[in-house]
Amino acid sequence: MRKDLLNDALTRLSTIAQDTPQFGAVLEALSQPQSTLTSHIAIRKDNGNTAYFKAYRCRYNDLLGPTKGGIRFHQDADQSEVEALALWMTLKCAVVNVPFGGAKGAVTVDPKKLSPMELERLSRSYIRAKADFIGPELDIPAPDVYTNARIMGWMMDEYEKITRTKCPAVITGKPLAFGGSVGRESATGRGAFLCIQALAGKLDWQPDQKTVAIQGFGNGGYHCARLLQADGYKVVAISDSKGGIFCEQGLDVESVFSEKQRSNELRAVYCQHSVCEDIEHTRISNEELLSLDVDILVPAALAGVINKENVEQIQASYIVEIANGPISSDVDQQLKEQGTHVIPDILANAGGVVVSFFEWCQNRQGETWSEQKVTEKLNDYMHQAFERAWTRYQQTNGSMREVVYQIALERLSDALHAHGTSD
Ligand code: GLU
Repeated sequence: MRKDLLNDALTRLSTIAQDTPQFGAVLEALSQPQSTLTSHIAIRKDNGNTAYFKAYRCRYNDLLGPTKGGIRFHQDADQSEVEALALWMTLKCAVVNVPFGGAKGAVTVDPKKLSPMELERLSRSYIRAKADFIGPELDIPAPDVYTNARIMGWMMDEYEKITRTKCPAVITGKPLAFGGSVGRESATGRGAFLCIQALAGKLDWQPDQKTVAIQGFGNGGYHCARLLQADGYKVVAISDSKGGIFCEQGLDVESVFSEKQRSNELRAVYCQHSVCEDIEHTRISNEELLSLDVDILVPAALAGVINKENVEQIQASYIVEIANGPISSDVDQQLKEQGTHVIPDILANAGGVVVSFFEWCQNRQGETWSEQKVTEKLNDYMHQAFERAWTRYQQTNGSMREVVYQIALERLSDALHAHGTSD
């Protein structure tokens, strides 16, 4: 049976906050989403039939600003998942200090079963259902699992048609030609990479002595893997939804990526001058990847993959969560006891929303920032958030997840008091 993700997210939140009575008011504010709009949307299929889908948008909490968060297209998406993800966006924006609240959206659909034209109609239909619920100063969507810049472009276009305005700031992660930002595409992976680099600085790691396994080769997983390899790390395993590849000597991330783009297959290849050769490797399942004896495990796919059933098999000393919620809350304690350190999602994958914030600023100011400016500013935001968490982590016996949650709750609590609604 599928877990109630919101319940899991709220359990973790209250467990972490339970010893801090000052968090009482903010916990109550966060105990439910402010509002969720559920819709039943229709599209005309290429064959002329009509198909219907469940579509969600949750604005979880807007204490820190207009709400922000991606839209995912996934066959397993449900209301509880969307709300949990929107809660995590609320905490994530607080951790990295961007002036946004948290939101999330989803359509329950297997996007691989739709043609590109059907996908466009679905994206436009979603916006027609949600147009009154979103806005550049109200709620700003972005890409998430199985959505991308192209889809954001269709959505922005539909919103502008409905409102008869030009409004690039209503959505981020757009194509560059529509006011997207350079560096947005790689931002989530880069943010996670910056966390690993910061960790390496603290722990005196030699990158070439460290092995990495990455579950999920989407946007976040790919860019993080690419940057890690360029920095000297050995990326020994990569997987996608169909399974994974393992090579003790290390995989060439760019070669694997270009082959995946070409054939849609994950293959252990090494490419030079457009000629790709297979390299020696072992085929592994996604489950086997999680239990590899590596230094750093990067779950970059979906929620709940590390849970009661497999937690004892985890051998990695560090887990860096690029996916949202890859570890279920009931194994947090066990991981701590096992000596597995976790860099939590709301810090590790926050690079995406940080550059979304930069995109929104550029759109509102009519500016186009250089790649150098975006990269430098992303470095600053991620380093400040990491440093703050690390300093506190050193001073207490809490885990990185606990201290990062506390920092988020403090910011939200300050905003709640400033608003005056907690009296
Ligand atoms: N979907 C991304 C996340 O989970 C990015 C959200 C955004 O840029 O608004 O953090």
